[in-house]
Amino acid sequence: MYFIKELHKIRYNCTGGIALFIDMDGVVADYRFGEGENIENNVYGTYLYKRPIKTSINILKKVNEQFDFEMFILSSCRYSEQIGEKSKWLEKNMPFIKKENQLFVISNTFEDRKMLKIDKIKQTIDGKYEKAIMIDDTHDVLFLAIKELGDKVVPYHVITLFD
Ligand SMILES: [Mg+2]
Repeated sequence: MYFIKELHKIRYNCTGGIALFIDMDGVVADYRFGEGENIENNVYGTYLYKRPIKTSINILKKVNEQFDFEMFILSSCRYSEQIGEKSKWLEKNMPFIKKENQLFVISNTFEDRKMLKIDKIKQTIDGKYEKAIMIDDTHDVLFLAIKELGDKVVPYHVITLFD
């Protein structure tokens, strides 16, 4: 599997701790076209009943079993209620992620969330991890990660997980 091979290379070239940050919408949970309105209006159940993308989740489960990486969920929400829904969803669909490794940021705009996510990575790895691996479906966030963290971060678009 391509992604597993990629991770072996990273592990081989890095002697320190590695933290892996996983986005939710569009990575492990479905991201339906047009659902932005429900998110914006804080409609109950928008996150709670999202369809889990089993192919991604199974690959990440394998990564968790095969590597000594610390795995984090890194997701942005518009409202605090959505954190509760996402957390319940994670407990049900990705129980191998520790509860304390569920990281959420609350952002008022689509733009804000990018920097909030990168700041969260910075705080989390500070002094503890040599490298951060980031998986996201938004190229802008991955570019910003490189701009802010340089070679401390290895960014992956979600599609690299498959095949
Ligand atoms: Mg996403």
